[in-house]
Amino acid sequence: MSETAVIRRKCSVCGREIPVKLHSDGTYEGGHYFGSVKEAMIELGRYDPKRPDEEYEYWECEECFKEASERVKNRDEMEKLYIDITRWEMGFNPYPHVPSDKVPILLFDKGVKMLEKHNAQSHYARKILSRKNILRRQISDGDHVLVVIDELRCALHSLLDSEEGASEG
Ligand SMILES: [Zn+2]
Repeated sequence: MSETAVIRRKCSVCGREIPVKLHSDGTYEGGHYFGSVKEAMIELGRYDPKRPDEEYEYWECEECFKEASERVKNRDEMEKLYIDITRWEMGFNPYPHVPSDKVPILLFDKGVKMLEKHNAQSHYARKILSRKNILRRQISDGDHVLVVIDELRCALHSLLDSEEGASEG
């Protein structure tokens, strides 16, 4: 008899329903779990106790996870993003085909994918990854844009620093 249970979760990126297989040894398959944003939502006063805890879990389906992973090939892309953020802060639109007010969201989303891909563990990276949904909304609302982007840049910076150390030799 199988010890596997199936739970249903929603992909936080595309909204698709993900059937997740839970095995008795604690492993799971079918999606990628990044943790809960409940604590952060409580802190920000945006927690609704009527919504079940599972709605505060951040999941990605296989496809979204794969797409994010493939977007980050190497350090060059990270450096390009870092430069794009700097250009954007100086008043240039680094992506002329993207409306200016959407550029911060694009920069943020790209940065988050890179942090995830690199499993970044710095203080800033952890902060961003644990709150990315909230931060993204703050950017969408036009709220705290510069603070969020600055944190993202700090996270990328520490990642670039650590890669530099790792690539020596
Ligand atoms: Zn998805």
